[in-house]
Amino acid sequence: MSTLRFYAIKQALNKKPIKIEENERRSALFGRNVFNEDKMRQYLTKEAFVSVMDAVLNGTKIERVVADHISTGMKEWAISKGVTHYTHWFQPLTGATAEKHDAFFEPIGNGRAIEKFGGGQLVQQEPDASSFPNGGIRNTFEARGYTAWDPTSPAFIYGTTLCIPTVFVSYTGEALDYKTPLLRALQAIDSAAVDVCKYFDKNVKKVNTSLGWEQEYFLIDRGLAASRPDILLTGRTLLGHSSAKGQQLDDHYFGTIPKRAMQFMRDLETECMLLGIPVKTRHNEVAPNQFELAPVYDEANLAVDHNSLLMDLMDRVAERHDFKVLFHEKPFKGVNGSGKHNNWSLSTNTGVNLLGPGKTPMSNLQFLTFFINTIKAVNENEELVRASIASASNDHRLGANEAPPAIISVFIGEQLTRVLDELENVTNGKLSPEEKTDLKLNVVGKIPEILLDNTDRNRTSSFAFTGNKFEFRAVGSTANCGKPMTVLSTIVANQLIKFKAEVDALIDKKGKGLKKDEAIFNVLREYIKKSKNILFEGNGYGEEWEIEAKRRGLSNYKTTPEALKAKISEKTIKMFEDLKVLNRVESISRYEVEMEDYVMHIQIEGRVLGDIARNHVVPIAVKYQNVLIENVSGLKEIYGDGFKKLAGEQMTLIEEISGHIASINSNVTKMINARKEANHIEIIEDKADAYCFKVKPFFDEIRYHCDKLELLVDDELWPLTKYRELLFTK
Ligand code: ADP
Ligand code: MG
Repeated sequence: MSTLRFYAIKQALNKKPIKIEENERRSALFGRNVFNEDKMRQYLTKEAFVSVMDAVLNGTKIERVVADHISTGMKEWAISKGVTHYTHWFQPLTGATAEKHDAFFEPIGNGRAIEKFGGGQLVQQEPDASSFPNGGIRNTFEARGYTAWDPTSPAFIYGTTLCIPTVFVSYTGEALDYKTPLLRALQAIDSAAVDVCKYFDKNVKKVNTSLGWEQEYFLIDRGLAASRPDILLTGRTLLGHSSAKGQQLDDHYFGTIPKRAMQFMRDLETECMLLGIPVKTRHNEVAPNQFELAPVYDEANLAVDHNSLLMDLMDRVAERHDFKVLFHEKPFKGVNGSGKHNNWSLSTNTGVNLLGPGKTPMSNLQFLTFFINTIKAVNENEELVRASIASASNDHRLGANEAPPAIISVFIGEQLTRVLDELENVTNGKLSPEEKTDLKLNVVGKIPEILLDNTDRNRTSSFAFTGNKFEFRAVGSTANCGKPMTVLSTIVANQLIKFKAEVDALIDKKGKGLKKDEAIFNVLREYIKKSKNILFEGNGYGEEWEIEAKRRGLSNYKTTPEALKAKISEKTIKMFEDLKVLNRVESISRYEVEMEDYVMHIQIEGRVLGDIARNHVVPIAVKYQNVLIENVSGLKEIYGDGFKKLAGEQMTLIEEISGHIASINSNVTKMINARKEANHIEIIEDKADAYCFKVKPFFDEIRYHCDKLELLVDDELWPLTKYRELLFTK
């Protein structure tokens, strides 16, 4: 095995960056492989074009006859670009993307054939859904699943396949993917936000949710990654002693991007351009071999699709460059983990960012309305927000030894804190003309168009306001952004509906009704008072905040099984039902899928760790011990009784090695037994708890002794590629 390690290192050191030609401007490449507006104009009949655009902008249904025209146009475009197959592209709850390719080719008898792609094939397909996770939905309804075209996300060409973004639902209509509830949630917030916007501008017809994600990842030489069974099978290292040099010098962050990685990025960016993913930023991250990629923000549904597509693309491009991309939230112990910040905002069809301060007091009041409602929504649903980003892999990041913590809190900066303090003192009921003028001129009117304060952000907050958007930082690097976006949109929609009702009630009150702005000030004042617990400007990393958060009654779930329970509280189920985002069956089945996913992750990690510890580490330790024993007996042969003085160190080592081997063996046995017991548990909560609290704790024990052995055993013999080799080979 150690031969594999040294072979992989030697190979890695000899690898040269691949040459990447960039002959065309990026703007020319952008969207070339996307069936976007330009291509639709070119390839569709006028009627078909209008119909698609109407579906995209207003959510209208596309008639079946029109779908036939659209599919024909799409096919012609695709064939002109050398495409032979098409697929419905969707995001099942496995976390990966799924596709099943069918050829356009169709024999028509008499030895002849044509290329065919009908409206029916565009609009709906029935993949064999039985092997996708569904959490009991299929058992209950014995439903088959089908995929249905989502015209709001344009079709694209990847390789020689035309990919059609679709939702994935059961035959009885239950969502089996991430996209379906996201689309419903985006609809809910659109309608709720439009209603509230009407207080400020009657012309607002649509509110779009925007998402800008920032993808962090590690790039490891493919050969080196393959030499580690843990990376290969679990995406992270389950053991490995920390490198003598880690990230403490901060010399990687924003430093020069290593050459091989740079070529990978350029290649990847070209692919992104062709697919219309507007990537803009690339840089090194905190840890060695860690990087970040971010696009310009986009409409949320499209941005979620783009992120899923990007992760897929990264895997494929990395292969060309002999890299392996690690998306795991914590691939290396003691080294900075990876997240995926979700920058979130709302904008109107009239071009106003509802989370950006404006030029006039009235537009600032609108901003404050959405700003405060968001804070209140997060305050009241902090457990659900935490649940939306829970996963076995993100547990290593949240609440472990790094920021952000598992506690959800909102950072808003000094300037806005001051504004909220002022608003909190607004008079109850009618406002005097003086107070109104004062509020408009000196409070609302004083919010600067650009919030400078927020550029100096608090990096430890899980949910931070950053000038014209909220940045949800606790999202994990492996996550499908659809999950947090669905929750965020739903809770804010729910809050905006309540807000509208409360304001209307104050305005309508017979006789002593308030003016619109008075009513808004009154409601916001109460919201500020009620939402104080969630606001936190201090350092979110460490025990002090944990104690304070506990005092405030904020949750601090450090493990997924604990965090996920918020997904099936009556409050959550009802809210999702009321807003038609998820029905009860869907909520519960999703929860089950995620709990099962957690169990499977820990189960696999346990198996891999047991295997590596027993079959790789222990045998090598024994081998090295034998070398020492031989040495000691040799010394004894030569020096007789005087050998003890010469062999003392070796004998201590022999004993230490025996000690670690014994601990590894006994802990692996205990872990296997705990696993067996857990596997017999039927109820998913109990099973997940058993894996979390009875199985997983052995990981640290086993790892500790393996890592100690790594320090004792001859480097020549050590079978597992070491941290320094994985992290510093460029
Ligand atoms: P960083 O957080 O790394 O300093 P930025 O704050 O500049 O980077 O931007 C991060 C992401 O936020 C980018 O994807 C950017 O397009 C996105 N973003 C900027 N403005 C908005 C907005 N109004 N709504 C949503 N996302 C936005
Ligand atoms: Mg950011």
